[in-house]
Amino acid sequence: MYSRSGSRITCDEENRKIKGYDIVINYKHNLSNISKYEIKSGDEINGAMTYEHNGKIFVVNRGVIVKSKTTNEKSLQSFHYCSTCSKWLYESTVADHYEKCPKKERTQVNIHKDLWLFIEGNQDVVSFEFLLATDVDAISYYTTLKETILQSLMLTYNLDESDINGFINPIHGKKEHSIVIFETEEGGTGVLKSLLNTSTTQFEKFIENMFLILHIKSLEPYDETMDACITACYNCLLRFRNQFEHKFLKRKLILPLMLKIDKAILSPAENQNIESLSDRLDNLKSKCDSELEKDVLDAIVKLKLPLPDKAQETFYLDGAPIAKADFFYSPNKYIFVDGPPHAPENIREEDKIKRDKLDSKGNIIIELDFIDGKYDEDPSLIEKEVKKEFDRL
Ligand SMILES: [Zn+2]
Ligand SMILES: [Zn+2]
Repeated sequence: MYSRSGSRITCDEENRKIKGYDIVINYKHNLSNISKYEIKSGDEINGAMTYEHNGKIFVVNRGVIVKSKTTNEKSLQSFHYCSTCSKWLYESTVADHYEKCPKKERTQVNIHKDLWLFIEGNQDVVSFEFLLATDVDAISYYTTLKETILQSLMLTYNLDESDINGFINPIHGKKEHSIVIFETEEGGTGVLKSLLNTSTTQFEKFIENMFLILHIKSLEPYDETMDACITACYNCLLRFRNQFEHKFLKRKLILPLMLKIDKAILSPAENQNIESLSDRLDNLKSKCDSELEKDVLDAIVKLKLPLPDKAQETFYLDGAPIAKADFFYSPNKYIFVDGPPHAPENIREEDKIKRDKLDSKGNIIIELDFIDGKYDEDPSLIEKEVKKEFDRL
């Protein structure tokens, strides 16, 4: 591996993009290092933020985008490296280089082809998550938001374009993107950290400045500044550095969100447990013994009931295992999902003895009865049974 130290992640990346390089930025978060915040208006949560000190940001340069003079088609020319003479080569010079390499007399010329250039940095990183309104283009929406956030941060903290950077990041399996903002100074300058200091009014100031950037004077009644543009202009979101995103920047796209977060406050998330609902669901499902149990979890989600804390939880009495419940809610609720294998009389008796023991120790038992197997033909029976039994609690 050939690497060069000393590079840092800066707005140079944008400049390289302008010069025609194919640049991809990535953020690899470390769950145990992240603090979570909620953006709330009253009781309503309208967004979430995370903060990570020394988060890992990767910048990958995959090559130069070249436009063919004859067909106008764009193609990517990746980088090549001659380890014999330690030179970077363009694709067009590779073939010749075996002849032209200055060190070819001494040793065999060794060219490494199709390399990606890679910079890794430890930066202070915040990410913003906002739901996507259903009928808008996700890329336009999140790019506009990202740019508004960046500009507002510059205004709030009097920063230069070279001090912070950001990009949008698709969220696996969702149409939403997160907005990742990072300080370009390795190790961080404390700006993003101070935004999240809930004992100051920095966050409120930051939201106010978002309005200012979008030419909004007041929301109710709605009023714009004299210089307000139709979609975007150099007084709001357009800059030289974001020229490749100009087509996505449409300030009015995010007005509905701005209405919601006007007067929003930031507070540390009550549940610092980073696992999202879908992660927890996946985790529980991975422990399930049967498809039926997984279907029960889906029904629980659909009915907006809380997810169990554990799956396949064994209850012990004096150190001896008594019964294994399919799901468990702390501190004392045991859920049994009884499918057709529980039908034989002897199994039913065994179940009863075990569960009576649990019950006698003050635990709450929920038995979901799918013994007749009819759910196979009518899956809606699963939800009905879950609702019926949980309603009783
Ligand atoms: Zn060479
Ligand atoms: Zn404008």
